[in-house]
Amino acid sequence: MSKVIFARSVAGGGGFSLPPCDVAEIEPAAEINREFLRAEAPLLPELSEVEVVRHYVELSQRAYGVDNGFYPLGSCTMKYNPKINEWAARLPGFAFLHPYQVEESVQGALELLYRAEKLCCEIGGMDRFTLQPAAGAHGELTGLMIIKAYHRHRQDLARSKILVPDSAHGTNPATAHVLGFEVVEVKSNEEGLVDLQDLKACMSSEVAALMLTNPNTLGLFEKEIEEIAAVVHAGGGLLYYDGANLNGIVGVARPGDMGFDVLHFNLHKTFATPHGGGGPGSGPVGVKEFLSDFLPRPLVEKKEEGYCLDYDRPLSIGKVRSFYGNFGVIVKAYAYMMALGGPGLREACELAVLNANYLRHHLQEDYHIAFKRLCKHEFVASGQKQLAENGVSTLDIAKRLMDYGFHPPTVYFPLIVKEALMIEPVETESRERLDEFIAALREIAREARENPDILHQAPHSTVIKRVDEVRAARQPILRWPG
Ligand SMILES: *Cc1c(COP(=O)(O)O)cnc(C)c1O
Repeated sequence: MSKVIFARSVAGGGGFSLPPCDVAEIEPAAEINREFLRAEAPLLPELSEVEVVRHYVELSQRAYGVDNGFYPLGSCTMKYNPKINEWAARLPGFAFLHPYQVEESVQGALELLYRAEKLCCEIGGMDRFTLQPAAGAHGELTGLMIIKAYHRHRQDLARSKILVPDSAHGTNPATAHVLGFEVVEVKSNEEGLVDLQDLKACMSSEVAALMLTNPNTLGLFEKEIEEIAAVVHAGGGLLYYDGANLNGIVGVARPGDMGFDVLHFNLHKTFATPHGGGGPGSGPVGVKEFLSDFLPRPLVEKKEEGYCLDYDRPLSIGKVRSFYGNFGVIVKAYAYMMALGGPGLREACELAVLNANYLRHHLQEDYHIAFKRLCKHEFVASGQKQLAENGVSTLDIAKRLMDYGFHPPTVYFPLIVKEALMIEPVETESRERLDEFIAALREIAREARENPDILHQAPHSTVIKRVDEVRAARQPILRWPG
């Protein structure tokens, strides 16, 4: 194991070379307030170029990504990111654009944004999209701002509540709260679906919207969605669709057809652009026609003389991000959508659902499965059997999976399932890989029965062993102590 970069530093060991200063004759002088000036040079590591390269390559090898192996992180959709998308985003005509260029000189980029919007509309069953938001949570924020603006515009000022099911992703209540809404939790029934009776009881003239994801975070399809939509609409509320993870329905069903008024997608999940440590995100927001005036500006329009940015949108909630969103991410997602086409997206969805049900079926003998029904792209298993019988927790199981070379699934979420292991295999894994994962989890269940200590102390094979997560969060050490 190597030392951190500071420990490798050798005084005078620097290896950089800068070009000669070409502004010397002008004598650049900046007036900097004395109090902002350093008294001493900063303590920086001194290393040659090759040492710096080794340091970062070594760090990259310690990380685990979808290019290293199976990554069944439920709700996060860690699918393979086709490398051809990187090629597309790196094309000089896209990569070297400047956001301040005049419209006439960026017609190709505007056309791509225009077409990407059209594809999003088609996939979501919506009328217009903004591509500005930089992540899923940012999309939620944008969507609820639009809903807020809509009610305000109609002088319907009492709508201060957002309904959120108890199985929802944490960003849903967080977003509503950030915008000053009161969050009202809607219960799930024994099937893991929205409890219609409770929804009716929660509905009132103070409700601005229901935020829902379908399939929900248990991977179950809300089959009463039309009735749910009718209840909310009858009460004057709107329906927000959290489409961060669309893998369970993409190409097969459309939120717009289910009655949703506003939605966001995560291009960095369903549409295969890298995320997590791997890249910036994009969370486009789509709306039905009656809400399109409130979308962030500008939108891309197609006129006779070419594509243009339309800022003339008086009811717009304004900009939600600098310039036009994470353009490179949109290029990658566009390349993905075009490569697969409608039938390809549908097939990806069907394979994702098949893979999830395959795992669910083969794990049910050893693990408690929260809802033993056909699931969509993900399902929730649980370590509660192992906890009760062997004193082994879901955390132990997750850590042990790392010794078998797998990234653990999402754990302890959704909150309504005890000891949850939320598993999403996605469509890009082969049957062989799924079988290896099943074998590893079955082996771990056997270890739990026969040798639980090996699980309590896992992982055994990683550079960093089990960390004290509470201490790491409360007392983070963020700088080199030397
Ligand atoms: C990932 C996810 C989000 C948040 O998306 P970010 O891009 O991480 O902000 C919201 N809802 C659901 C259901 C998700 O899976």
